[in-house]
Amino acid sequence: MTQINWSEKVNPVVRNLPPSGIRRFFDLVAEMKGVISLGVGEPDFVTPWHIREACIYSLEKGYTMYTSNWGLLELREAVAADVEGTYNIKYNPRDEILITVGVSEAMDLAMRVLLEPGDEVLIPEPSYVSYAPCTTLAGGVPVFIPTGMENGFRISAEQVQSLITPRTKVLLLCYPNNPTGAIMDREELLKIAEVAKQNDLMVVSDEIYDRLTYVGQHTCMASLPGMQDRTVLLNGFSKAYAMTGWRVGYAAGHPDIIGAMTKIHQYTMLCTSITAQMAAMEALKNGQPAMRHMVENYNRRRNLVVQAFRDMGLPCYEPGGAFYAFPQISGTGLNCEEFAEELLKQEQVALVPGNAFGPSGEGFVRVSYAASLDDLSEAFRRMSRFVRRYGVR
Ligand code: PLP
Repeated sequence: MTQINWSEKVNPVVRNLPPSGIRRFFDLVAEMKGVISLGVGEPDFVTPWHIREACIYSLEKGYTMYTSNWGLLELREAVAADVEGTYNIKYNPRDEILITVGVSEAMDLAMRVLLEPGDEVLIPEPSYVSYAPCTTLAGGVPVFIPTGMENGFRISAEQVQSLITPRTKVLLLCYPNNPTGAIMDREELLKIAEVAKQNDLMVVSDEIYDRLTYVGQHTCMASLPGMQDRTVLLNGFSKAYAMTGWRVGYAAGHPDIIGAMTKIHQYTMLCTSITAQMAAMEALKNGQPAMRHMVENYNRRRNLVVQAFRDMGLPCYEPGGAFYAFPQISGTGLNCEEFAEELLKQEQVALVPGNAFGPSGEGFVRVSYAASLDDLSEAFRRMSRFVRRYGVR
């Protein structure tokens, strides 16, 4: 009998994708007891009750069918009104907004629509784990823009310009950033927008943390002069409204691009779950006070976390947004994987090694402060004990 090699049945592009550095680490956590997890990028709040109630009510009323491929028109109208109210840019809810299964699906669609084989995508690094795989799966080539603590994990227009080749098609941005919490100011984004226009780049802007900005005001790439059609704006409900499990997000942009994304979405997803869309509509209509309350809480925790690391002698850049801190741990003499693994084994605290987000993350760990104050204080008690054991040089 000839042995069949089943893995050879898998498309090599998929076979060769590296496993997510986050998942690999969490397999370890799953086997342990009493772990305090500051690892996952997920609000510790349950979705506000009025949003859950809107979903229950929609089920009672019998809303259990497919919606339009684009998503409920009323939700697209609410998204358009929200974006216009926040950033003063207008999108036509009929053909410039697509409701997706989270920003995750929107990112995949954007890459599949924009890229031809071999096209290059500029991606700031460290960055969210899905960007490079989405690029590769769409036939593109990720080209990383390294960032570091010395420049606040921000990219510059000069850096972007220096990496452009005739194959560069897309610039991917995510500010506030996961994993560093970095934000970009309007002046720098204006310069980057000029580079994008001069080199005819499309910008895919993942703004999932836009409402979680604690310092200054978030600038939306699409709101800059001449950038609305050149930008595919991605956003969603997971972080701002504590709705990670509902799986609802959206893409906004030029009708040709959003229409092409909808073409794929109609065959692969058909539509986002109607109950999730109903809940998202309630979030946009009445969810602002609850959202503000959560953001204030994150901000309070952010200050505690940054101070706690500095008290341990670990340099920690002050994150301007999202709910992550990215302290430098190399002074302990451990690399980021050793730090995360030993901390987990010795003190049962889980966080993510920085290199899971790219090579510039070596020497750092990502700590999510979307955790209760009790968990945070206990985790920091354990972490200080751990760091004292190694010392900081
Ligand atoms: N983009 C970033 C930067 C994220 O951090 C995450 C989740 O952690 C996502 C997208 C996924 O968002 P969604 O839940 O809307 O798919």
